[in-house]
Amino acid sequence: MTDHFAIDTLETDILVLGAGGAGLCAALHAADRSPNLSVTVVVKGLLGRAGCTRMVQGGYNAVLTPPDSIEAHFLDTLAGGAWINDQELVWKLVTEAPGRVLELEARYGCFFDRLPDGRIHQKPFAGQSHDRTIHKGDLTGIEIMNRLTEQVWRRPSIRALEEHRAVELLRDDEGRVAGALVLDIRRGALVAVSSRATLLAMGGGPTMYRVIACSADKAADGLALGFRAGLRLRDMEMVQFHPTGLIVPNSLMTGALLEEGLRGAGGRLVNGRGERFMERYDPARMERSTRDLVARACFTEVLQGRGAPHGGVWIDVSHLGADVVEKSFRGMVRRCRDFGYDLARGPVEVGPTTHFMMGGVVIDTACRTDVEGLFAAGEDAGGVHGANRLGGNGVAESTVFGGLAGDSMAEWVAERPRPRARRSSVDAAARRVFVPLERSGGESVYALQSRLRDVMWERVGLIRSGEGLRSALAEIADIGQRVETAGVPGGLAYNVAWQDWLNLQNQATVAWLIARSALERAESRGSHYRSDFPQPGAELFTVCAGFDGGARPRIWTEPVRLSRLEPGGKPVPATIEVGD
Ligand SMILES: Cc1cc2nc3c(=O)[nH]c(=O)nc-3n(C[C@H](O)[C@H](O)[C@H](O)COP(=O)(O)OP(=O)(O)OC[C@H]3O[C@@H](n4cnc5c(N)ncnc54)[C@H](O)[C@@H]3O)c2cc1C
Repeated sequence: MTDHFAIDTLETDILVLGAGGAGLCAALHAADRSPNLSVTVVVKGLLGRAGCTRMVQGGYNAVLTPPDSIEAHFLDTLAGGAWINDQELVWKLVTEAPGRVLELEARYGCFFDRLPDGRIHQKPFAGQSHDRTIHKGDLTGIEIMNRLTEQVWRRPSIRALEEHRAVELLRDDEGRVAGALVLDIRRGALVAVSSRATLLAMGGGPTMYRVIACSADKAADGLALGFRAGLRLRDMEMVQFHPTGLIVPNSLMTGALLEEGLRGAGGRLVNGRGERFMERYDPARMERSTRDLVARACFTEVLQGRGAPHGGVWIDVSHLGADVVEKSFRGMVRRCRDFGYDLARGPVEVGPTTHFMMGGVVIDTACRTDVEGLFAAGEDAGGVHGANRLGGNGVAESTVFGGLAGDSMAEWVAERPRPRARRSSVDAAARRVFVPLERSGGESVYALQSRLRDVMWERVGLIRSGEGLRSALAEIADIGQRVETAGVPGGLAYNVAWQDWLNLQNQATVAWLIARSALERAESRGSHYRSDFPQPGAELFTVCAGFDGGARPRIWTEPVRLSRLEPGGKPVPATIEVGD
């Protein structure tokens, strides 16, 4: 196959795979720390336009002024994550986030909403003990991504490969990561990019579910590539379902998000009978309860026959006053209007939507992975959010750890020679990419895609059981095998079916990891709910995934390391060694 398709080559010092908040901050930090280094950013779509950071509506959690405190942000994040977070990563997040916000404004040119006295405005979000969420109206991600993108274009040492997708990581003879094989989607041609340090920043992406809120260009590519390269993953069972996705009958817009600020500002959730049902699930916090709980409550109301006409529930903010809603939630008012709803003046039908993956690659506080030369940041990394992410901590994670990864990679490459990718690994990866184009007929990619989405939504979704997970695993394995025999019509350039075939391979791999990890966690915790084990267990543990030394995947558990606080907030005894 590689005889027929020439592979272009490219050399760079630092290779950033993905261009959301994590990828762009990494590129900027690496370039600014060492301007002599060449940095290449690979992005599936257009720079600044693809991925979820641009979709951030609500905002960014960082502690700016008392009475809020770093300790409170730390404790809220651990409590929200049901105490299985990596506490050193959380501490890094909460201590670095204030500085990153200042950097976004003072160095990169973002401008967040302010109080009349000039201080940055911070709004309430669920699961927070203080109003902590910094924002630009309800279009915060657009502000951040536009400014970061402008900064990237201004730096000559950063090159962007737009509409290119990473298809495999390349290794050298010593097992180090030596770059990535990248497919130029426009031409349908491969580029072997040789690099001295490589970052996974492809933003996870639970697009293997039927109803999604996240950017459809993502396909969990970073997690699948990392897994195939031998990385350890953690918390893969922890998939976040956001409670308030729009319901638009017969439209792909079903699942698009109405952000948490609505509930933070006093929005009410009401079932088909007009009852404020959160009274039954969390009477103290009501709609400001954490996402996992609210999403399951919405789902349960519908399952038990108390839903609204199209299988959802209602969110109502009209009592806040039409002027307030129109001013504070401009983006959402517009989006609802497009689908015939008037958010400022009446209820809108919503339901749970698949939003975010808490699980991901195991990293340390410098974003290093288990494999030399490979780093990970943002939604591709696991450990920060534990069993449930708090609203506002996602974009904080991507920009904080993206920046840290850029610094680490710039430091890392300074004293290291360039690894050389094994030719055999390039050829094998290339062969795999082109295989479906040579087949005529075979299974339909779209039938398989639709089957996977249904299995994940129905059996690996908000409410899981051992029986459902076991049958889902068998079906996912079958789908995975059938994808390998599917053919795609069309040529090389801009072949959407071919891209979807590549997506589906990775989605099936990661779907299997989610379901298998969910089976391993025989308890309910955070976003993971098992109807056969409805309570949390006594032990705190992490579910890990990797390979057993050969070609067989392995799932195992490890006790959670409580390096700073015990559940409830008591400091761990001082004799226990803590990280930095
Ligand atoms: C609708 C919505 C609203 C949200 N609102 C908030 C909020 O208010 N506050 C908050 O904190 N968080 C929010 N989040 C979560 C937040 O968006 C994420 O936590 C964060 O943006 C992830 O950043 P990232 O850089 O890891 O990934 P992304 O920003 O998703 O970027 C991933 C990048 O990788 C690229 N990519 C993917 N696959 C490949 C490949 N194979 N090759 C090359 N490139 C690839 C994509 O094109 C994209 O450029 C929201 C998410 C959604 C979906």
